[in-house]
Amino acid sequence: MMIVMKETATDEQIEAVAAKVERAGASAHRSRGARVTVIGAIGDVDQDIAIGSLGLEGQPGVDRVVPILKPYKLASSQFRHGERTVLQIGGEKVGGGHFALIAGPCTVESREQVIATAEVVKEAGASMLRGGAYKPRTSPYAFQGLGLEGLRLLAEAKERTGLPIVTELMDARDLEPVLEVADVIQVGARNMQNFPLLAEIGRSGRPVLLKRGLSATLEELLMAAEYVLKEGNPNVMLCERGIRTFESSYRTTLDLQAVPVLKELSHLPVVVDPSHAAGRRSLVAPMSLAAAAAGADGIIVEVHPNPDEALCDGPQALLASEFAAYADAVHRAAQLSGQTMSVGSL
Ligand code: PEP
Ligand code: MN
Repeated sequence: MMIVMKETATDEQIEAVAAKVERAGASAHRSRGARVTVIGAIGDVDQDIAIGSLGLEGQPGVDRVVPILKPYKLASSQFRHGERTVLQIGGEKVGGGHFALIAGPCTVESREQVIATAEVVKEAGASMLRGGAYKPRTSPYAFQGLGLEGLRLLAEAKERTGLPIVTELMDARDLEPVLEVADVIQVGARNMQNFPLLAEIGRSGRPVLLKRGLSATLEELLMAAEYVLKEGNPNVMLCERGIRTFESSYRTTLDLQAVPVLKELSHLPVVVDPSHAAGRRSLVAPMSLAAAAAGADGIIVEVHPNPDEALCDGPQALLASEFAAYADAVHRAAQLSGQTMSVGSL
């Protein structure tokens, strides 16, 4: 249920309504827009019925009470009343017309590798640095990431460049050290429906990049986002990273229609990862341009100073030496869809 307050509603009136909702057993999620505040009364079916019988429509400051029709509530565009969520990450904004280019290696491998990459992407106008310390590998015998040492190197890269850090969390037991360095916690495609992990990250309040599972529908992605939002963490970015189809000419199919559709269904920013969708370098630039022109709020892309020697995902990594030209082209494509660049960008 959604309680839309009047433009003139006072803080006291908003809090009085929220308190009533909570007394009925539901949780009250306040969304303060530029014009109106909306209170999402989120609970199970019985609590919905209880809220329906509270007579909130006649309460001071209440404009109207409307049901949220989608199974995801806080993630639905209806909840923000048409306004888009803009995430503030360090000095950067993402969403609502602010475009973010997130770049870096798949995996933190060494001090030299991560610092060199961070400096190149910073110089080219990237807004954040990506890099995994904990890696979800198909084979348990493959390199699993440097763990704590990887996090330490990311902290050093952040200190040198000022770039906010995006890094993956796979296991809630690693949350504490990850929180020390991550400005954005990445939830990988394989963990999109790891519900306890999502709830734990939700409780941390840290911004999240939530990747679409390899066979997940957009509704399932939004329901996964709901797990984070429900814990009171509104800072979620959705990420399209390719899905499994019958086509075998490339690793996965980049579902670019997901960009405008997710933006219709939800107020959350939508980021595209062309690297993991493609699996090979030659496809990364064209798909990045298409995604930016289609209105994506950001791109997350893999870059390596020497991809032939990368311990993970080398074939899809952009060459650090070619990154500046790539970034320039992506920013121009983003401008085509009416986006402005984040701080540090062109
Ligand atoms: C990654 O970003 O390095 C990664 C493993 O991505 P995904 O979860 O989309 O496969
Ligand atoms: Mn990777």
